[in-house]
Amino acid sequence: MIIDDVYIKTLLKNGAEASAEARRAALSRAEGGAPLTLTDAAALLHMTDAEDEARLFALAGKIKNAVYGNRVVLFAPLYVSDYCVNNCAYCGYKKSNGFRRRKLTFDEIRQEVELLESLGHKRLALEFGEDYENCPMEYILGAIGAVYDTKNGGGEIRRVNVNIAATTVENYAKLKEKGIGTYILFQETYHKATYERLHRGGPKSDYGYHLTAFDRAMQGGVDDVGAGVLFGLYDYKYEVMALLLHNAHLERTYGAGFHTISVPRLRQARGNDLRAFPHLVGDSDFKRIIALLRIAVPYTGIILSTRESAALRNEAIHYGVSQISAGSATGVGAYRVEAAGEDANQFEIADRRAVHTVVADLMNSGFIPSYCTACYRKGRTGDRFFALARSGEIKNVCAPNAIMTLAEYVTDYGDDALKSAGLDCVKRNIAAIEDESMRTALEAQTEKILAGKRDLYF
Ligand code: SF4
Repeated sequence: MIIDDVYIKTLLKNGAEASAEARRAALSRAEGGAPLTLTDAAALLHMTDAEDEARLFALAGKIKNAVYGNRVVLFAPLYVSDYCVNNCAYCGYKKSNGFRRRKLTFDEIRQEVELLESLGHKRLALEFGEDYENCPMEYILGAIGAVYDTKNGGGEIRRVNVNIAATTVENYAKLKEKGIGTYILFQETYHKATYERLHRGGPKSDYGYHLTAFDRAMQGGVDDVGAGVLFGLYDYKYEVMALLLHNAHLERTYGAGFHTISVPRLRQARGNDLRAFPHLVGDSDFKRIIALLRIAVPYTGIILSTRESAALRNEAIHYGVSQISAGSATGVGAYRVEAAGEDANQFEIADRRAVHTVVADLMNSGFIPSYCTACYRKGRTGDRFFALARSGEIKNVCAPNAIMTLAEYVTDYGDDALKSAGLDCVKRNIAAIEDESMRTALEAQTEKILAGKRDLYF
């Protein structure tokens, strides 16, 4: 059993009853480097003391730095098709919402991608609604090919992550064959009764089929899977414990847990009324979720989207978040619509900073904005990725790759001020690389980039 409802409730009950001393002892164990047990995670989810919470955030930041260093990976979503046969209560694309649906033609996909490329993006997350008549697997595979621009010999996009509905082992094998990076699927809520209440009709209403999608993905050869829940649908403490159980199941069975966890919070969308959702998550609980996940699954990337404000995202990168979207448009064809000065977003976006502003803000906060896609292209996926992350070696390639992609970005897309700040950041961060042979190699590669070479990585 992947999710044991009774077990989660027992863990949470014990966690709620844990004494302040027991919580502090759990924190001390984690600070001493012990992996966070489910019992300790449940206890920490119930902490109320401000000093304990400060320790939690400090530890999360320390762990993040130890695993990934100071890079933050950037990406953009690309909404490809809003045809959907499901009726998810919280979603603007639900079948019962009457609006003119569409999917991009492959030429339109290339146009959207050209716009994204002109912003400097190298890594995309493709979003498709579930409708195998209007959006069949062949179309999805063709869309991925159009993004990689296989017809014209390859464009600027170097990694395509894909979010499609739960499907068969055979279809996952086709995605793998097509060269996807991460397969993304959000459970939305792990609480079965809530899941069934919110997903009335359509194939997504099958909780068990949805929950086992990553098993089929792994069996189909997709070994980087990206999970998430939509925080606000049910008690966040339950969702966090369930995420940890799901991750443990994948680790146990396939040797690799979640490559990433996304932490979207429920937002207003067409046809939903937030007053109908009693479990909305406030900022302080949300920050604790992020810090706790970082401590519990240190080697899993944590993704925060533009649903959250710039202020919150700027804060969360200090203690957990390792990937953020930037300059996002969240509707089908929305990048071109936005370029024409209109709004086509599916839900409210809180962080509307331009990509170059996000890059500048990251540098000003001491981070290296990264467009790195090296691991997947070097075959560092699944259990191989986790082995390197556990040994601490990922950090040794993350920083050099981040530095090289930043040098590329500011040279190709920055104005004079951004270029100058970016090259300073490159220089500073090269000097901070401890390993002398890596530092020398990186200096040589960066020189090549400044002389016009592109797409270098370790
Ligand atoms: S080196 Fe690997 S883990 Fe690090 S940013 Fe690049 S792709 Fe991600």
